[in-house]
Amino acid sequence: MGAEKLTPLEKDVTMALMYLRGLVSGLNNILFPNVCLLCQTFIPSQNPTPSLCLNCDNKIQENAPPFCLKCSRQLIITENEDHTLCPECQKHSYAFDSAWGICVYDETMRRLLHLFKYGQKTSLRHYFKDRILSFLHTYHIDLSDYDRIVPIPLHSVRLRERGYNQSELLAQTLAEQFHLTLCTNNFFRVKNTPYQARLTQKDRWTNIAGAFRIKQTFQFSNNKILLVDDLMTTGATVSEAARILKQAEAKRVDVLTLAIAGE
Ligand SMILES: [Zn+2]
Ligand SMILES: [Zn+2]
Repeated sequence: MGAEKLTPLEKDVTMALMYLRGLVSGLNNILFPNVCLLCQTFIPSQNPTPSLCLNCDNKIQENAPPFCLKCSRQLIITENEDHTLCPECQKHSYAFDSAWGICVYDETMRRLLHLFKYGQKTSLRHYFKDRILSFLHTYHIDLSDYDRIVPIPLHSVRLRERGYNQSELLAQTLAEQFHLTLCTNNFFRVKNTPYQARLTQKDRWTNIAGAFRIKQTFQFSNNKILLVDDLMTTGATVSEAARILKQAEAKRVDVLTLAIAGE
């Protein structure tokens, strides 16, 4: 053992350094305590996540079966009605092949996504990555054979205002995890559309039509693409993006969103 070879003076210095390190860490916790992003309570250092307290973490609902076969929205099965597609998928002909929504979009998730998108809380991507990986593991979903991972782009004006694209942060963490090619320079938003959340369901489809463009279509030709976004409500945004990617002869376009609105 290295410690046995230390002289008494070296041992004293080592002990003093350990003591100092403990003191600095303790002071750090007092001066800059880790607080829960949602409820502002103190988070103990042994907490599995530095972003949320256990109580708030438990409030986040993972999306659960029975899943819609196309978009993964949780199906409400009644005795008289046995369907495999949710009402949204029965109503629209989505351009993507399939979609996975990881968490249910409820009030807790709405507040958390708001912090992630507009509140500069970009460190939440680590928490979200853990949530996504856990879901993929549970349902045996393998992302490793996608040719490209493509985040839903922000318009350049909005990107300048916000400073980052939250969907790109998510796509980046997944690209690193699964060794996928992250594509951020070939798929653009050319229309600075009003926020989808402020529009009616019908207006969301017309608002987003023609919003995306591809620079070099051959890059996506014959590719299996995973589109990544933070939220799917009507599915209009990811469907329009998938439509454009399919026009560029993408072989398959699947979608992964962090949150998905219920039926
Ligand atoms: Zn909390
Ligand atoms: Zn569906």
